Amino acid sequence: MTRMRVGQGYDSHALKPGIPLYLGGVFVPSTKGSAGHSDGDCLVHALIDAILGTQAKGDIGLMFPDNDPELKGIRSTKLFERMMQSGTLKPFTVINADITVFLNRPKMRDHRDEILKSLSGLLNCPSDCVNLKAKTWEGMPESAADLVAASVTLLVEVE
Ligand code: MG
Repeated sequence: MTRMRVGQGYDSHALKPGIPLYLGGVFVPSTKGSAGHSDGDCLVHALIDAILGTQAKGDIGLMFPDNDPELKGIRSTKLFERMMQSGTLKPFTVINADITVFLNRPKMRDHRDEILKSLSGLLNCPSDCVNLKAKTWEGMPESAADLVAASVTLLVEVE
């Protein structure tokens, strides 16, 4: 019997000069990148949390501790693959993912198509099952310009 399950994920990272910015598995040229123990890809981290949420399997920090030296600098898409291959999850099919990224600069519109393609590849679903919205930190203090965040709502059918 299949079951419809919803999952939610959120993540935020500080932006710092001299490191790369990855969003949804895509390198986004930027003067500041996302700081983290891994590559700091908050969109993939939120996606992992959303998937774990659909199956009541905790969160990314339980599966991939941020003090594990083996994970230092790892691409978050690798973490995603490891989660999918871990045997922890029941097989599932993505119905749709609705995603919001919060970032002042660079503008998301130039990278939207590439990120959508990457996400539909990770989720193994058609591109019209993934929606990507971009927000800025409008009206927030200037220090918010040094933040990137992502929020994911995911609906899946679990076998
Ligand atoms: Mg994170």
